[in-house]
Amino acid sequence: MSDRQQLGSAISRGLRGRCPRCGEGALFRGFLNMRSRCESCGLDYDFADAGDGPAIFVILLGGFIVVFAALITEVIYKPPFWLHAVLWLPLILLVTLWPLRAIKGLLIDLQYHHKAQEGQFHARGDK
Ligand SMILES: [Zn+2]
Repeated sequence: MSDRQQLGSAISRGLRGRCPRCGEGALFRGFLNMRSRCESCGLDYDFADAGDGPAIFVILLGGFIVVFAALITEVIYKPPFWLHAVLWLPLILLVTLWPLRAIKGLLIDLQYHHKAQEGQFHARGDK
């Protein structure tokens, strides 16, 4: 399998919340809690640390969608403020909660694919 195919496979597995190694076992127990290891291949998920990455992507993407939609609606229809609240509060929940799990899975599977880990300091000559 070429590197490009492996990357596509990692993206697909991540978006579906599957194990980055076998693609069969689930990454999550519950909504966002990680399992300790893959139930299918036994991969230890201790390496997985998406940090604040998923939240940042969701905030940027969801914020753009909601603010853009609210601005367009305000400019074209000039609705009362209560209608803005009725329209955009549910949309905010939808565009933030719905993609959060998929983006967290994607970042963890990409972390595994690229063997990314926390930066460490090394003394000179020490590799
Ligand atoms: Zn697995």
